Amino acid sequence: AKKAVLGPLVGAVDQGTSSTRFLVFNSKTAELLSHHQVELKQEFPKEGWVEQDPKEILNSVYECIEKTCEKLGQLNIDISNIKAIGVSNQRETTVVWDKLTGEPLYNAVVWLDLRTQSTVESLSKRIPGNNNFVKSKTGLPLSTYFSAVKLRWLLDNVRKVQKAVEEDRALFGTVDSWLIWCLTGGANGGVHCTDVTNASRTMLFNIHSLEWDKELCEFFEIPMKILPNVRSSSEIYGLMKAGALEGVPISGCLGDQSAALVGQMCFQDGQAKNTYGTGCFLLCNTGRKCVFSEHGLLTTVAYKLGRDKPVYYALEGSVAIAGAVVRWLRDNLGIIKTSDEIEKLAKEVGTSYGCYFVPAFSGLYAPYWEPSARGIICGLTQFTNRCHIAFAALEAVCFQTREILDAMNRDCGMPLRHLQVDGGMTNNKILMQLQADILYIPVVKPSMPETTALGAAMAAGAAEGVGVWSLDPEDLSAVTVERFEPQINAEESEIRYSTWKKAVMKSMGWVT
Ligand code: ADP
Repeated sequence: AKKAVLGPLVGAVDQGTSSTRFLVFNSKTAELLSHHQVELKQEFPKEGWVEQDPKEILNSVYECIEKTCEKLGQLNIDISNIKAIGVSNQRETTVVWDKLTGEPLYNAVVWLDLRTQSTVESLSKRIPGNNNFVKSKTGLPLSTYFSAVKLRWLLDNVRKVQKAVEEDRALFGTVDSWLIWCLTGGANGGVHCTDVTNASRTMLFNIHSLEWDKELCEFFEIPMKILPNVRSSSEIYGLMKAGALEGVPISGCLGDQSAALVGQMCFQDGQAKNTYGTGCFLLCNTGRKCVFSEHGLLTTVAYKLGRDKPVYYALEGSVAIAGAVVRWLRDNLGIIKTSDEIEKLAKEVGTSYGCYFVPAFSGLYAPYWEPSARGIICGLTQFTNRCHIAFAALEAVCFQTREILDAMNRDCGMPLRHLQVDGGMTNNKILMQLQADILYIPVVKPSMPETTALGAAMAAGAAEGVGVWSLDPEDLSAVTVERFEPQINAEESEIRYSTWKKAVMKSMGWVT
């Protein structure tokens, strides 16, 4: 059959906590042409520990690329039209590997992992100067969430890692670095780099100077020689060394939440998006200013789309557990077989009947930053059944979003008039309606939901030397959206929200 004629195409790796995807877009229309997705295993070797196999992550990327290329072939689309590849990834998750053998020296320590709680406690007693030392440089609170303490743990506890550092064979990276190094050749000339957005999540990166911070590395006792080079989010890092797309440049790199911000076209000061994946992350573009929160939000690098382009910052409200609570109901309680079944259960009852579920599995992130919290389900009666618990789980995601939105509105001074959303959970219509009801503002969802991948593709396509994607606002096509309007009254919404807050207070102080 004749091959379809198309403009330049751009591929994007979307390496998330739950799954890996590869997607191919038309750079002129932003249309999604084909994709493939593979779910990933998570290992919980001890209470509070969360790990993934870096090799499985890498293989899932290769598998998604190969399968997507096959699907494109079936559509008669010539894969030689793919001019660039972008990478977007789960952030903070920490990998250390051997640069001579290419082998990981330990499993990836996932962002949700809590093993570093005692590391954090002992470090926080030693903070030099005032308590703002880490926050003022990085925009982040000292927490188990970020890479520096995970890397500290690996250096303290894994003999293989210690030995490789001594022998100058160790490389550290977040998942973007691990993937780009492997995809560009690994032990045979792989490029060891990261971008400013991923670097800003390590707690080692100075978000003002945009460099690794010597004082922070001394404080965490991290050898700087194992850190990747920090680059912009949009430039050619290297070429694919194997597989169906061998020779194609990798020219975009953004942490998943930054990628979604770009994919949602939130380029203006005050524009925000909320992504519902494993966790939930609300980011608001603050332009070229670094804004520090008074209400428990993080300051982070939003993007820097080119070597000579300015850096943009964001305020971020991070919620650790969103989709993960649905996965927990599936895998640990077995009350659903697939994630989307939760919608059916919730619909059967249409209310939690006074049941509240605070899924503080990894403590509470924003706005509380409370590591002592653990999950609770409360307000149970003999009437409560699995449908009410399912409903309460969805409602929990909405309440947590309400809390970070309230914080964002206070920090920004200008309340958001609607909420732009994306992520795996936004397929759930009940969740979207509940969210509009609980926020009491409209929730707006793009009809092409893969905004994270789109953002990475845009960064890759726009890179100098690729130049197939224009980021000029005039060239960006209007996005078609689905809207959810609030349907309950504000008073009812407030009553439910205040009961939720009571439940949150009860979840705190479980571990001391
Ligand atoms: P990530 O980027 O963190 O890997 P995704 O954006 O792919 O996450 O979303 C996957 C998460 O969304 C999973 O935790 C899954 O349980 C949840 N999820 C997927 N579909 C639904 C649904 N229809 N209703 C509720 N949750 C869902």
